[in-house]
Amino acid sequence: MQIVIFGPPGVGKGTVSDALSAKYKIPHISTGDIFRAEIKSGNSELIQYVEKGLLVPDSVVNKVIEKGLRQEAYKSGFILDGYPRTIDQAVFLENALWKLNKKIDLVINLAASDEQIIGRITQRRTCGKCGALYNLVTIKPKKKDACDKCNGPLVQRKDDEPETAGKRIDVYKEETSPLVEYYRKKKLLVDVDASKKPKEVYNSALKVINELVKKDEKQTPAQQ
Ligand SMILES: [Zn+2]
Repeated sequence: MQIVIFGPPGVGKGTVSDALSAKYKIPHISTGDIFRAEIKSGNSELIQYVEKGLLVPDSVVNKVIEKGLRQEAYKSGFILDGYPRTIDQAVFLENALWKLNKKIDLVINLAASDEQIIGRITQRRTCGKCGALYNLVTIKPKKKDACDKCNGPLVQRKDDEPETAGKRIDVYKEETSPLVEYYRKKKLLVDVDASKKPKEVYNSALKVINELVKKDEKQTPAQQ
């Protein structure tokens, strides 16, 4: 089962992906993690962009993702979050999966209003030491300014400040929202109302996936 989780920054893609990953025992691929791993392993092509703070071009992003998807761990499926961001990337992903004899089964579109999203992003805190994510409203750390896992300092990333958050949402709308229509036309996209509490959002996503699994079972009856 290959699932793409879609939605604007701050809508809770990571949280929903992690919960679904635990439930269905298929790995959650965060493109951020793949990138960090590649940088650590010394991918010089990628590093030269990141070091200069430049936008990494599609060709490099795609290569990194394709390499990541080939890992043994993703053999029986994955939940992908943070990629694709553009129609070009979506087409590339289809081809890359096709080579692996796979396809996207479902795209979950997490939807919420701009106000809700900005509200959530600005409550976000990141551990400066281990990178764990918190939200002062929804995923509260035990102590307001220290990480539950490693006691590192919790900081607000530049990306999560109100002004930058607004800009990121604008970029998302311009760049990524055409993809919503792209996947809708392919009948792969299902909308999930992400304005609710994380638990409810998770339950809605669960329902969507369960329906898909049921449909699949009907279409491919067990061999005699
Ligand atoms: Zn930490």
